[in-house]
Formats: sequence, structure tokens, C-alpha cells
Amino acid sequence: MKYPLVRKHLIMVPFGQKLSIGTTPNTAIEIEDPDRLIYSVLSKCNGETTVEEIHNNIIEDFPSISIDDVKDIIKQVADMPYIMEDAELANHSNLNEYYRERHSRNINFLSNFDPKGTQKYEYMEKIINTTVILIGLGGVGSSILYNLASLGVKKVIGIDYDTVDLSNLNRQILYREKHIGMNKTDAASETIREFNSDVEFIPEYRKLSGYEDILNIIKTHNADFVICAADKPPLWIYRWTNQACLETNTPWIYGGNSETTSYFQTIIPFESACYQCKEKYIYANFPEAVEKYESILEGGYDAQNNCLTASSNVLGSFVIFDFIRTRTGIEKPLSINKLTYFDYKTYKIDSESVPIMETCSCHDMPLKGGETNENHYQSTK
Ligand SMILES: [Zn+2]
Repeated sequence: MKYPLVRKHLIMVPFGQKLSIGTTPNTAIEIEDPDRLIYSVLSKCNGETTVEEIHNNIIEDFPSISIDDVKDIIKQVADMPYIMEDAELANHSNLNEYYRERHSRNINFLSNFDPKGTQKYEYMEKIINTTVILIGLGGVGSSILYNLASLGVKKVIGIDYDTVDLSNLNRQILYREKHIGMNKTDAASETIREFNSDVEFIPEYRKLSGYEDILNIIKTHNADFVICAADKPPLWIYRWTNQACLETNTPWIYGGNSETTSYFQTIIPFESACYQCKEKYIYANFPEAVEKYESILEGGYDAQNNCLTASSNVLGSFVIFDFIRTRTGIEKPLSINKLTYFDYKTYKIDSESVPIMETCSCHDMPLKGGETNENHYQSTK
């Protein structure tokens, strides 16, 4: 390592005869360090100092320590995952200095999934170089759009046909009082432009009326990912998105709120269960639920929303973690083949299985252009 760096977000605490690196219980590493030599070396591994300079800096306090001893200490710690990296890595990244600074804390977080510290910039690039279609700019959509913009996702197409009204302001944090009466797409565009001008937000003020509408938007923008944060028309919006995403081999996530719970499912076409699999599973296993399901499909419902900003943000943020997993390949998304839900009355996080159904058309559909799905995610484990 030319410029050894102890990851900047790790806290080092010398105590007793030991040095603790990191503070999370069970994952913090404790090293025997009775004379504080290791602490002295590591605290100088700031990514801007060479091993020779580090040795020069400690020689006064530790006159018997050679440069090879310093190299040994650095190597031993560098062999432990998630602690050190070579700061020179940043110079090989395609992200310029502005992006590396703006997203430095995002990159720090991503480094928690990068044992050797060699891929975190690449992960960040993959996230940035994404075109996302966001269906619905209400409470959950607000949270998701802020999350996408703070991750620096380069292009987001936001679809909604509503206008901002007073009762939206309890949870739809994209909007201000001055936006009341304005199209949500235009108001969201204004907010996101002020928040992160690197993000190209494309407003699509329109009411979706079928899967073809979503298909056309995916194709027009060559989208990489779809997030459905809309609940109207009930269930149909998921059906349409599912069909459009299967046809274009586009990963997608849907999520929503009901009473005091939030739920979401991540769908990787042809690899995980799709929304149609979920319907087929209900029809095959829960005949008593079918009548109710079909009644909603036919007649919809007309009920007021009961969300807080808090519940929209929790859901929106969970969705984003699976979005990050899928785009970067740091690990498999966690909410595939199941509906994950959490209850604010109990803080209980649970899931319902959604198996891949052999009777589902997704099972037989050929991949677009004979592609494999390896690009959707690649497990690093
Ligand atoms: Zn399916």
C-alpha cells in the first residue's frame, strides 16, 4: 500500500492493553496493543502519508521500530477485512473530485460491503449511472426521490398526475406550501433541482392507463430500474408495471402502506418471483382471499391515506437498500421471493413468502435478446 488508509468512518479507541477499531458491538475488532505502537501507526494511516513518512513520524516515540516493523503492522491490519485500504484507489476512480467529496459518506457506507476496499467507488458509479422510473410522487415517492437524489442517481423520470394539496404536506416532503395547486411533477422537479442539480429529473405529468404506457416510458428512456410507489389504480398498477418490466427485463420494486404496516417486494425478472407469481400463489393457496382480491380489482376502493412522513420514510428507505443491492451487486436484494413488511405498532419486521410459480408466464418467457441476468446483481459471496 502506497498510502495506507484506515477507513475514515472507523472509530479507534485505545483502552487498557488493547486497541478497539470500530464501535458496533460484535463487529468491532480488538487488538492487543500494550505499548500503543499499533495505535500510533494506524492513527497516521490517513491516506496521505507514505509508510516511510509514518515510520519517520513514530521513530521518536518508538526508536527501536524499523520500517519493516511498520510495514508488518500495516499488513496485518490490512489483512483483516473492512478496516484498511489504499487511498491511491481514489485516483483510479472515474468519479471526479467533486463527486468523491459530495458522495464521500455514501462511499464510506458502501465500503462496509467491500472487505478489501477496492470496489466502493465502482459501487458508487453504478448507482450514479442509473436511470430510474419512479411511479407516484406521493408520500413514499417523495422519500424515494430524495433518497435517489442524495445518492446522485443521474436520471429519474417521475410520473404522477396529481396536484399538491394542503393535506399532502403531512408526509409528501417534496412539496412546500407555495406548491399547493401545482402539478406534483413540476413541484418535485423544482425541489430536486435545488437539492441536487446533478440529477436530471424528467417530469411525466400523466395518468397511466395500461401497461403499454409504462412500457413506452421504460423504452423511451432505456431505464435500468422501476420503482412503483403508486397505489392507484389499486393492484392494476402493480400488474401493469410487472408486465412492462418482464417485457423489458427491468428490475423493479413496489411498496405501499396499509394501516400501521408498510410492505415491499423486489422483483428481478426471470430470477425471482414476479407480481404475477404472487397473484397465482394467492389463487392457488388462499381461495378465501380470491373473492376479496377480485373485488378490489373490479371496483377499487376509495379510502383516505393514513401515512406519516415517518412511515413513508421508513418504507422509502428500505426500498432504497434493495435498489442499492440490485444496482451494485454488493449482495442479493433481500426482499426477493417475499413480501417484506413491518408494523409500527410492534416494530416487528416479517415477511410473506412469494415463491416463483411454474404456472406463471414469467417462467417461460425468454430473456430479452437472449441476455442473462448477471448484470442485475452479482453476489460477491
Ligand atoms: Zn412470475
